Amino acid sequence: MNEVEKKGGEAAPKVSKTIRIQWREDRNPEALKVQIVLRVERPRPPQPDPREALLCYVDVNSSYGVVAIFASFDGQRVKVHETLKLKPPNRGRRLREAANRKGAASQGVKNNIHFALARLSERFNSKGWVKRAAEIFKKALAYARGRSVWINFDVPPAHILRNSHLRRTLLSVKRVARNLGNWYGIYATFECYPSHKCPLCGGELERFKTRRTRVEKCEKCGFLEDHDYTPFYWWLKKLGLPLPRWPLGSLSYKQG
Ligand SMILES: [Zn+2]
Repeated sequence: MNEVEKKGGEAAPKVSKTIRIQWREDRNPEALKVQIVLRVERPRPPQPDPREALLCYVDVNSSYGVVAIFASFDGQRVKVHETLKLKPPNRGRRLREAANRKGAASQGVKNNIHFALARLSERFNSKGWVKRAAEIFKKALAYARGRSVWINFDVPPAHILRNSHLRRTLLSVKRVARNLGNWYGIYATFECYPSHKCPLCGGELERFKTRRTRVEKCEKCGFLEDHDYTPFYWWLKKLGLPLPRWPLGSLSYKQG
């Protein structure tokens, strides 16, 4: 209730009220139970100017867990404020096997997508996702300092998944993100960008594994980056922004 009142002045939320009255003759006939359910919906905020907004790229599909990049355009180049990797609670062999079993029904979709979704549905439950998504939204608002925020969630489109269980998980991940976005007044989109193509020259990226990260390198132009960050560059390109200095973080990498 307090939260609703506090935020009431910012946008015009749609409020619907449901009143439930319960009475049990057999248990406690002299008492009525009255429940009031308030449902508050805010409209989707308008699309911000990417040159003015705080930009956040969230990859839900990464085999690592959830990866988030916070950045903004400073007039000359895109500055990255923070890269965040939220580790999944557990990612054992058994989970991967379960993902493979689930994935067997839908052909043509990469196993890592099923693995990520199986983890989301089994270990990384919806409560956990709401908490983590809220964490990301709040962080984005803190970096924005009053500017508008644009968050893109990289999740695979639901129609490529034949497995109905995984599709439900995916849709609930999206619904949570969309609802939280509207609540915080953040513009949220759901677009996938490539992770195997060089954002500088379009060449194929070669993947190397180090102890900590999966690194990608372009043989044509020398672009070198953490595999989880590559789609972020493609998003910036689509927004018409210049690319940041790479790599975004420090890479412990030696070419063998
Ligand atoms: Zn390249």
